[in-house]
Amino acid sequence: MNDKAPPALPHDERTSQMRTRLIHGVSHSARWDYDHHVVPPMTASATFRLDSAERGAEGFEAFGRGEGLDPHREPIYIYDRLDEPTCGMLQDNLAAAECGEMAVCYASGMAAISAAICTLTRSGEHIVAHKVLYGCTYSLIENWLPRYGIDATLADLTQAGALRQAIRPGTRVIYFETPVNPDLAMIDIAAVRAVADEVNARRGPEDRLWVVVDNTFATPFCQRPLTLGAHLVCQSLTKAIGGFGTDIGGAVIGPRELRRPLILYRKDFGGSLSPKGAWPPLVCGLPTLAARMANYQKTAHRVAEFLEKHPKVERVLYPGLESFPQAALARRQMRDYHGKFAPGSMLYFVLRDPEGSGKPAARMINAIADSAYSITLAVSLGQIKTLIEAPFTMTHSAMPAEEKLAKGLLPGGIRLSIGLEDWHDIIADLDSALGKA
Ligand SMILES: *Cc1c(COP(=O)(O)O)cnc(C)c1O
Repeated sequence: MNDKAPPALPHDERTSQMRTRLIHGVSHSARWDYDHHVVPPMTASATFRLDSAERGAEGFEAFGRGEGLDPHREPIYIYDRLDEPTCGMLQDNLAAAECGEMAVCYASGMAAISAAICTLTRSGEHIVAHKVLYGCTYSLIENWLPRYGIDATLADLTQAGALRQAIRPGTRVIYFETPVNPDLAMIDIAAVRAVADEVNARRGPEDRLWVVVDNTFATPFCQRPLTLGAHLVCQSLTKAIGGFGTDIGGAVIGPRELRRPLILYRKDFGGSLSPKGAWPPLVCGLPTLAARMANYQKTAHRVAEFLEKHPKVERVLYPGLESFPQAALARRQMRDYHGKFAPGSMLYFVLRDPEGSGKPAARMINAIADSAYSITLAVSLGQIKTLIEAPFTMTHSAMPAEEKLAKGLLPGGIRLSIGLEDWHDIIADLDSALGKA
């Protein structure tokens, strides 16, 4: 550890385009004391030499005050579960990508989501969440949080009236994904924030209602919820930010005032992201996000148009299609760093299935599993490989069938995550599998 101030840099990265910044990173960081590395190192030391009792005490005190992760102070590293350089560099870059003041990384997307909700609530309090959620988030809210006295109301947050009705005096968090996994419904972030502001005008700062958005489907390339009214963003780094499908990780991004509870929660509940898990999104995932997403989106549009015309397909939901039910909101909310419409890499489509048996979807998925080359039957998303799955029986299996049907998730629904393959091959594989549906 050198004790020099960070070098005066010839360039302020904030003047560069985000595509360049995602590659070159946050240049003003006291964490970066590896002056001649072109690629940031993956550190491999679980504990750190502390030089003296005084320096050790100072490190613990600074961490307890929540200062340990300030990129403008030279950190005193103590132990990996508290803070370490590789994860720290990733945090600085994620904060920049999401236009937030700070980021805290976790061992998985679910570790990040549970940390965000649990640092903002106490026993006896309440959260409101959208009626359709990623399956494990649904299970967290329905199966685990009630054990700790935190109840939830699931409401249709596409309707501002339903949100107002669901809020109680003890409600502390409004939680949703947009686009929603898997049906790509859009929730108007600014409209939700306006409702939260009405409520907060009558409350003290301690009882504040927070808007938390899971931005995993869109990624910060396509949408920055913090600039649209969200207080906090959750990300699964396992998906498009990681990009290559090699590692699990998660992050919470938001205001500096929440850094302290978020890192203290991580320290004690233990869901820290290891340096070996932080390195791939830092070195491969985030730097290639813009280039991958530009490519994914072009292919997604072609695939959506192909599916829309196919006689076996009843409905295609892709925010970039003219026919998208919430096209105006999608165009307002999903914008890349240049302000260009950025509808993302995820599609949801429903096969014609008059009996509602799910059999056509199962036949199509099995045809993909048996004979497709460019499409893989697998959960997860946002990778360089195109992935397909049936949410009704796979990612959303935690939700009871009747509840799924009531919420519009049908057995014939199929989720497609576009990768970097040549779009002709993806369409040829879909066409051939649809022939067997
Ligand atoms: C995958 C996913 C998660 C959970 O992330 P993990 O990294 O698998 O824990 C949360 N939200 C959404 C929308 C997801 O797709």
